[in-house]
Amino acid sequence: MRNWSGTVEYQAAGFEQPRTVEQLQEVVARSPRIRALGTRHSFNAIADTEGVLVTTTGIEPEFELDAERRIVRLGSGARYAALATFLTDEGWALHNMGSLPHISVGGAVATGTHGSGAANGSLATAVRGLQIVGPDGALRWVRAGEEGFDGSVVALGALGVVARLEVAVEPGYLVRQDVYRGLDWEVLLADVAAVTDAAYSVSVFTDWLSPTIDQVWVKRRVASVDEAVPDELAGARRSGSAVQIIESAEDNTTQQGVAGAWSAHLPHFRIDSTPSKGDEIQTEYFVGKADAADALRAVRALAEEIHPHLLVTELRTIAADRLWLSEASERESLAIHFTFKNEPAAVQALCTRIEAALAPFAPRPHWGKVHTVDAAAIADRYPRLPDFQALRAEADPQGKFGGPALDALIGAVRA
Ligand SMILES: Cc1cc2nc3c(=O)[nH]c(=O)nc-3n(C[C@H](O)[C@H](O)[C@H](O)COP(=O)(O)OP(=O)(O)OC[C@H]3O[C@@H](n4cnc5c(N)ncnc54)[C@H](O)[C@@H]3O)c2cc1C
Repeated sequence: MRNWSGTVEYQAAGFEQPRTVEQLQEVVARSPRIRALGTRHSFNAIADTEGVLVTTTGIEPEFELDAERRIVRLGSGARYAALATFLTDEGWALHNMGSLPHISVGGAVATGTHGSGAANGSLATAVRGLQIVGPDGALRWVRAGEEGFDGSVVALGALGVVARLEVAVEPGYLVRQDVYRGLDWEVLLADVAAVTDAAYSVSVFTDWLSPTIDQVWVKRRVASVDEAVPDELAGARRSGSAVQIIESAEDNTTQQGVAGAWSAHLPHFRIDSTPSKGDEIQTEYFVGKADAADALRAVRALAEEIHPHLLVTELRTIAADRLWLSEASERESLAIHFTFKNEPAAVQALCTRIEAALAPFAPRPHWGKVHTVDAAAIADRYPRLPDFQALRAEADPQGKFGGPALDALIGAVRA
């Protein structure tokens, strides 16, 4: 079995897709080594195990809206597309979405998946509770405010298999999406935040080489469908026609200032189609927003090397949070993302080059994407890792939920 992009072959000895939470509990209890698998959208082997991979995608999500507490309860195997459709129909919303809504909620939360927006935390920051299947198959809820909660949300499957989640919701809102073209690199570097903080969610797309940045996608929360927006953003002009992120990507969400439901415009890809071909490799590094200009200059110095292998780069901001293993933990962040061509050796070599260039800024790699950052650097960049290790040793004393890639990165549980 392979991941979504076909670039990782899982080494697991078995694969299970239970239909009920009870079956999930039984599979976990009887398996000596087991790890959760979501919708296989990660680009590395973080999910892998020598034992059994178990996915919750076969269990009915059973969405339950609690309007009074402003939460929705759902099965972890649900895709954001299904959750967003349910919430939109009910008149409710999430605070943000990732670019692709076809990713499982459990997998996205476990890896700190994010959208964009200076004031928007990652998707995991909306989690208010997790129901986890522990090593003996028993279920337990851990809720916001309880001890260990901040270590249990972005947890890489290391604490057990999340069966259900409680996620914060807010009343539905309108989003209008516009694309601005021709942003001068020097204007961006002179004041990165003037661009990234210009609206609710901003994504800057570049090939690094061109003197101007081709596309800035701007998602604004608007009060009505005919609310006016500026024609200019830091010297870039609002496009009158629809553009695509990369030439081969169809199925982009509507632009040209058409306002609509949050769920129709916050992701880059439409929720009612299955976009992206999968013939790509993604990598992404989070640096402090305060270092954004210097970090971008450092990567831009590699433009000639990066460009031949690149499909597109996306720059996004993520609000700081308190989750121990979140890539934006305690740090307002700029995420520098690369969608590379499916050229594993070249990408591996480029990761090393980019990581060296970003080293002064202590980059945290996206947990679900390709990188070559080692355990020592991870330990250095995650001050709460020792607390997570203690939490993990308590939750999983035998290291049942460990795996080769995970343990190589954050250390194994010592039984
Ligand atoms: C086309 C594309 C677009 C993307 N866009 C974005 C983006 O906009 N922003 C961003 O940040 N990332 C993005 N990603 C990366 C993606 O969001 C992450 O890799 C995410 O983890 C994928 O979720 P998944 O369900 O496929 O998880 P998997 O890849 O299946 O698993 C990832 C990790 O989650 C754990 N996990 C999965 N389910 C559970 C569970 N039920 N309980 C406990 N642990 C679990 C696994 O053990 C593993 O460690 C994108 C990826 C693709 C392919």
